[in-house]
Formats: sequence, C-alpha cells, structure tokens
Amino acid sequence: MKEEKDCKIVQDLLPNYIEGLANEATKDFFEEHLNKCNECKQIFENMQEDLKVNIIDKDKKAVKYFKKYRNKLRFLWIILLVILVIFVGNTARKMIILSNLANKSKAYTNSENYHYTSYIYLKNKIIIDETWNLGDKRKFVSTHISPEGTTKFLVYGNKTGTDEWGNELYDTNTYNVTENNKTVELNVNKAISGLSQSMTNVLIEDFYNLLLISLRASVTSTTYNGEECYYIQSLPYLLSTYVSKNTGLSISILTQEVENANGGIDRLPISEYTYEFNTVTEDDFIELDISEYNVK
Ligand SMILES: [Zn+2]
Repeated sequence: MKEEKDCKIVQDLLPNYIEGLANEATKDFFEEHLNKCNECKQIFENMQEDLKVNIIDKDKKAVKYFKKYRNKLRFLWIILLVILVIFVGNTARKMIILSNLANKSKAYTNSENYHYTSYIYLKNKIIIDETWNLGDKRKFVSTHISPEGTTKFLVYGNKTGTDEWGNELYDTNTYNVTENNKTVELNVNKAISGLSQSMTNVLIEDFYNLLLISLRASVTSTTYNGEECYYIQSLPYLLSTYVSKNTGLSISILTQEVENANGGIDRLPISEYTYEFNTVTEDDFIELDISEYNVK
C-alpha cells in the first residue's frame, strides 16, 4: 500500500526532480525509490528522454531561425554591395564621358580660326551673337530682332595685348545700326570675348572638380537636331545642356518649360550654338563704309 502511494508521489513530482527543482531531502527520497521501483524508474527514464528531445527540438528551431536571419542579413549586404557597385560604376562612366568631352573641346577652344554663333530665344526677341576670329583679328556682331525692329552692333578688333586680369584687349571700331541711326566709334580699347570665354562646354579643371560634377550631374546619350550628343543636366555651374559627342562643345542650353499642343510639357531651347572652324578669311574683316555713319 505504502509503495503505491510513494509511486504516485514520485510520478507526480518527476518533472520537478528532472529539472533540478527538488530539495535535497526529496532528491534522496527519489533516488532511493527509483533504485527499488522498476516501474517508476522506467517512467523516469522515458520522461528524461522526452525532455532531451524537447530541448534538442528547441535548439534546432533556434538554429533554423538564426540561419534564416543570417541569410536575410547576407541578402541585404549583397543588395547594398550591388547598389554601391552600380553607383561607383555610373559615376566612373560619367567621369570618363565628361573628361573626354572636355579634352575634345580644348582642341576647338584653342583654335585661332573660328566662327561661332549663338541664338538666344527670348519672349518677342531673338538675339544672334556671332564671333569671327582669325589670329589677332576678332569681329563680333550682335543682331537683335524684335517686333520693334532690328538693331545691329558690330565690333571690329585688332588684338593689342592683355590686361592685368588676362583679358585680351583690342583696338576696336564699333558700329551701331538702328532703324534711323547709324553711328561709329573709332579706335576704342575694348575686350571682346572669344570662344574660350563664352564657351558653355564642360569645364573640367581637375580630378576633384570632375568627380564633383560627375556626382551631381546626369549624363544621357541622345541626339539634338540630328547631332549625336550628351544631355547633361544640373551641373553646379551650368544649366542643362546638350554637348556634341563629336566636338565636346555645347550646342544648346535649356532652361524653360512650356506646355505643348498635347497638354504635355516641352522643354524649349533658350539658346543654341553653331561652330565653324578654319572657314574664316581676311574678307570677313572688311569694315563697313564709314562715310555712311555718324562718327562719335
Ligand atoms: Zn514506484
């Protein structure tokens, strides 16, 4: 009778004993009983086995969770790495394109024989600025066309030197032509900006500058008026511009957006540029007939 009662107590408290929650006296009682009762010993061993399996299961789950977490983390790292590689690659691509354009344009801006024209489109007004250069001779003609009429401003210059800031100085004759007035101002010392000063091409001074521009600008391959070019947007010092792939020179600068007939938004060119090299001759510098002008 007593044995059976002991068995019930032992079996009831076995989990506590296995988990080490029993006190010393209880432990002694358990050990003594388990040594002499096969039934309880069997139950004890089974329960111990179950508990072990349970613990292993828990460990396995933890390992599985950890692996899953680790894989997720690895995936994130790979994505970050891919983004970084794309970013670095894209910046390097822009640096190569921009430095190539700058090198190409240098050959042209150093030219002594050029004729270039800029067309500036304003509301109700078009300004056409043309510059001819042949060695030390330079001619600048600005034509303003508006509903009020057309005016012309012509400067013929012979280079005399450079000022303290490095600007080229010219001995010039300046002609002003309006609808009802023609004046000329002779032998004035003036600076006439040439291709290098007026240039809107990509100016890459050094590696740091090139990197900075490459980080900020977007460079897209496209065509403009049938010419292969790059569309370079939001440079720190320049407006959005189309630069010829062939010459590295700006062929258009954009600033304004307008609504088109379809209700969409078009970006209109505000200025366009054309260039000719080695076409200028002495004939381009034959001055106007002064006798028709009021001398200032
Ligand atoms: Zn027992």
